This record gives sequence, C-alpha cells and structure tokens, in this order.
Amino acid sequence: MKRIFCLITAAFLGLTPWIAGCAASNTPETSETYAMNTIITQTVYTDDSDILVQNNEILRRIEDEMSKTIADSDVARINAQSGEDVIVSDATAQVLADSIAAAKETGGAFNPALGTVISAWGFGTEDAQVPDAETLSALLKKTDYQNVSINGTRVNAGGTQIDLGGCVKGYALDRLAQNLNDAGVQSAILSVGGSLYAVGQKPDGAGYRIGIRDPEGTENDYMATMDLNGRFVSTSGTYERGFTEDGVYYYHLLDPQTGYPANSGITSVTVVCDNGFLSDAYSTALFVMGAEKGIAFAQAHGADVLYLTNDHHILTTEGFASKYALKITNDSYMAVS
Ligand code: ADP
Ligand code: MG
Repeated sequence: MKRIFCLITAAFLGLTPWIAGCAASNTPETSETYAMNTIITQTVYTDDSDILVQNNEILRRIEDEMSKTIADSDVARINAQSGEDVIVSDATAQVLADSIAAAKETGGAFNPALGTVISAWGFGTEDAQVPDAETLSALLKKTDYQNVSINGTRVNAGGTQIDLGGCVKGYALDRLAQNLNDAGVQSAILSVGGSLYAVGQKPDGAGYRIGIRDPEGTENDYMATMDLNGRFVSTSGTYERGFTEDGVYYYHLLDPQTGYPANSGITSVTVVCDNGFLSDAYSTALFVMGAEKGIAFAQAHGADVLYLTNDHHILTTEGFASKYALKITNDSYMAVS
C-alpha cells in the first residue's frame, strides 16, 4: 500500500495535515478509510506493512463496540436496556468511566449521557430537525450522567442514553498512537475526523504542521497553521454536521443545560494536550463553556487552546503562538493577547 507521499489534499473535518513539500527519500505507509462517521487518514513511516492493517482492525473494533448506531454494539445494548445492567468490553467500560470523569471535571459541559437530546436533533442524518421545546425539556430530564453506574465491565445507563460522539475519535487516536509507539515508529501523522496526532519529522527533516480550519470557509480553507509534535489536537466547530431551518443555522455542539446548540460566541475551539481522549472531550466541553471559562479551564488542566470568536478574534492560552509556531494565514482573523 505504499504511495508517493506528496501533497495531501483530502478533506478532513476540521484539522488537516498541512504538508508543504514532497518527502524525497522515503515513502510511508498510508491509509484512508471511513469509520465512526468520519474520514480517517494515516501516514506512517515504517517498513512494517502490517502496522496499518493492525490500526484499521483497532478502529473497526472500537466502532463495533462504541457506535450507538450499530445494533449489537456495547453502547447500543446499554441504551436499549437503559436502567438495567449490561456487560461490556474492557475498552467500552474504560471509555465510559473516563467520559463520566470528564463530565465531572467539566461541570457537565461534556456530557456522555446526552443521547436522548442528541438523537432528537438527528444531526448528520436525513431526519435532522429542531425538536419542539416541550419534547426537549422532557428529554433533558433523562440526561443526568450521575445516574450512570460502572462496576468493572457492568454498566447501567440509569435511564439515560449514552452518546460517545464527542470523545471516541480522540480515544481511537490514543489507541492508534499507542500501537505505533509499541512498534517503535518515529514519524507519523494520523487524522480521525477533527482530531489529529503527529510525531517526529518527515524524511526531509521538517516537522509536521497542521491547518486550523476557517469555520466560515470550505473544508479545505485554513485560517492558520501550527506545529504538532507528539501531542494530540482536536477541533470542535460550528461547521460540522449543522443544518438550517427557517433561516436559522443549528449545529451539533449542544449545551447540556438547555438542549440547544451552545451559543457561546465562538465558531471553533482547538484543544492540544497529551491525550487524544481528553483533547476530544475537552474540545466539545470548551465549545460549550465559551472562551473565558474555557481558557481558565485549560490553563488549570494542562491543555492549550485556541478559540475563534464570531467576530474573528483569536483567543488562546498563554504562550500558544510561540509553543506551536502559530502562523495566521487568513488576516481577517486577529490575535488578541
Ligand atoms: P465531531 O468531530 O463529530 O465534530 P466533537 O468532538 O466536536 O465531534 O463532538 C460533537 C459530538 O459530540 C456531537 O455530534 C454529539 O454526538 C456529541 N455532543 C454534542 N454536544 C455534546 C456535549 N455537550 N457533551 C458531550 N457530547 C456532546
Ligand atoms: Mg470532542
């Protein structure tokens, strides 16, 4: 599956490997697949052609266990029998436990038990619609993550519906990165929807730079580029899975307090940290929190963030620009220090 590695132009959902030139002396293993409702691309410098086969098997298993739309997945079974105990895989139990911990940590801004409300909106499906207010307020009553119990691999959703869409892609990145690390891979870039991981340098010695999507542009438009080495980055933005009804645009990042799209004055938030699961869960939570609260949260939790506001301001945690060699490529966006 060797392919000449030159310019990657495939569309990604928020963050994109931004490769400036061709790698002259080496060709990587590459893969582009579709899973978990998103495009997954992998570029790995290795002589072991089995690594991407392993990685794609890891992805398939995660989807089979944690997708809520695959009928016999762990999450589908938990939801079908909400209020009863269900035995799940070790991996599902771990992701659920971590997602409940993230809910507590973010004061519920990230809520993996928001499934009833998310399904009512139907984002990304043909049935996408604005639920009526009465329906929403009834469904909101079934979203208390504190009712979810996890004992080992025994899970009870306590009347809620689980939706791991806000963290499972980041979790998948953790697992892929771990597999590469175990195999001694020194250079790779992986993209799972709006989450990315990159490590090392390309054969020409250059590090990996990625693009931060312009929320008002198309999927190939970036407003800035940044370095990424050995860390995980996730972006949550209004451009993903939205729809317009009666002239109003509704997007898939919901405020668990109201059940409506979080209206926090921002168009995207990009979160960098040492862990894919957390970068993803935090990106969803920090969108809901808005810039002021989100920057304080990130600073207290070892994450770096970059917000884009509705009025094109760029707000970041301290030192973001120099740490990641941020280069603003669309000058309608203005850094505010
Ligand atoms: P994506 O890469 O799909 O854009 P995000 O990390 O931005 O993913 O998370 C959005 C997804 O998370 C939604 O499609 C929905 O499934 C779920 N979601 C929406 N709002 C919340 C929330 N407040 N807490 C947890 N999950 C959420
Ligand atoms: Mg997320």
